[in-house]
Amino acid sequence: MEACNAYYYATRDPLGADGDFTTAPEISQMFGEIVGAVLADCWVRAGKRADATYVELGPGRGTLAADALRAMARAGFQGEVHFVETSPVLRAEQAVRHPNAHWHDAIEELPRAPLLLVANEFLDALPVRQRVDGIERTIEVIGGALAFTRDGVIIEDSPARRDAVAALAQRLADNGGVALVIDYGYPASAPGDTLQAVHGHQFAHILDRPGEQDLTAHVNFGAVAEAARDGGAEVTPLATQGDWLQRLGIAKRAEALSETFPGRAKEIAAARHRLCDVQEMGSLFKVIGIHSTDWPAPAGFA
Ligand code: SAH
Repeated sequence: MEACNAYYYATRDPLGADGDFTTAPEISQMFGEIVGAVLADCWVRAGKRADATYVELGPGRGTLAADALRAMARAGFQGEVHFVETSPVLRAEQAVRHPNAHWHDAIEELPRAPLLLVANEFLDALPVRQRVDGIERTIEVIGGALAFTRDGVIIEDSPARRDAVAALAQRLADNGGVALVIDYGYPASAPGDTLQAVHGHQFAHILDRPGEQDLTAHVNFGAVAEAARDGGAEVTPLATQGDWLQRLGIAKRAEALSETFPGRAKEIAAARHRLCDVQEMGSLFKVIGIHSTDWPAPAGFA
């Protein structure tokens, strides 16, 4: 999974209608604006530190960062922009919108400053392990084709995600700050196979076209919270994306945008529906906040 995704992201921009999948910030500017407003609110309440830094893990096309930073600038935020991104293709795309950003290969390379961090659909791309009866399920070449070695009740875990969240929490604990982690996933460990492949906006077989299709697995938010606490940070309750965006006023933002752009009212309403409705992204996608003990908890959680 790690090798396939490294090749996959290094060789293309997978986002948008011509690619393989679409993400919340690509659906509507409202998503990034609300993320930015929440980060800016924490920054203001923590005393507007001039050394606070905007950080994004896996920023894709840089759309979320553009919308968030526009909202944060209205609150007076002018800090540096740091991206953790391994794909050269996506780094080039991000540089178009964020020419002054700084790029890093890993969380450990981030500056030692208070962080205002967001990771949307980043953890799902990090590799998972699957076990059946306690034995790791692997892939072999059987009869000239790739095949899984065993079937049965599958238990997933992800050391790569645990390490990423622990590293991020440790940074927050050391230097202060707040993080929003948004992804599709479930609240606590449960048996099940969530590994999936997407190609051209359709589900595909996981072992088809290695490195040429998007591989993800649902995020175990219980494990995220545990890793964050182990790293020395505090966590908010888990919220569904729909509840979170609604508590933070997406309806008002949609109304204001529709008044400014009356010709786009239908498209704005459709985007809000897609982000919030329980049948769409509203319930499967979850949001959790992670913050240092000396920074306020982000808004929007029950
Ligand atoms: N956050 C964006 C893009 C999500 S796609 C959005 O919401 O639109 C996943 C992103 O994570 C891509 O930018 C991809 O290149 C990056 N990525 C995947 N694996 C990574 C890794 N191991 N280290 C750093 N970035 C990674």
